Amino acid sequence: MNLYGGQINKLIEELSQLPGIGSKSAQRLAFHLIGIPEEKVERLANTMIEARKNVKYCKCCYTLTDKEICPICSNPNRDQSVIMVVETPRDLAAYEKTGRFNGVYHVLHGAISPMLGIGPGDIKLKELIKRLEGDVKEVIIATNSSLEGETTAMYISKLIKPSGIKVSRIASGVPVGGDLEYIDEVTLLRALEGRVEL
Ligand code: ZN
Repeated sequence: MNLYGGQINKLIEELSQLPGIGSKSAQRLAFHLIGIPEEKVERLANTMIEARKNVKYCKCCYTLTDKEICPICSNPNRDQSVIMVVETPRDLAAYEKTGRFNGVYHVLHGAISPMLGIGPGDIKLKELIKRLEGDVKEVIIATNSSLEGETTAMYISKLIKPSGIKVSRIASGVPVGGDLEYIDEVTLLRALEGRVEL
């Protein structure tokens, strides 16, 4: 159905491909964009293009950043000897929001899932092991409590244990299968403080 002509339809279609945007929201956004001043749309479009071009993985922890080394890794006040392992940059952001973790992170970009054919080689695990050659006292595994997250936690713990580095797992209390991103700060903090050694 071509109510508005090709360009509006194209815009709606592109927007509806974004995560969480259904066709109704896409339509609403499209009309919003058409209704605001042109320079605002230009600024939005340019911001998207620049971010896409310049944002890459931190060379140390693999979170997203537009610097070689992200602000957390390059902060001299952070304890580089405590590494919290998370699945995604969004999980990192959730823990950062608690404001109580003073170590550094390692972002795996996924979790091991035999069912989906995602093996240890498909996530940033080699990169984590490489980091352990430095002065590391503790690795806190904060992967999700989903099956994949637990599988990954077990795998990492088995891999690291022989090195003698302390390995701990955030406490349960984080809802099973729950995305860390959607859990409130108090729950995250409790999970972090009640972590158990593996
Ligand atoms: Zn970093």
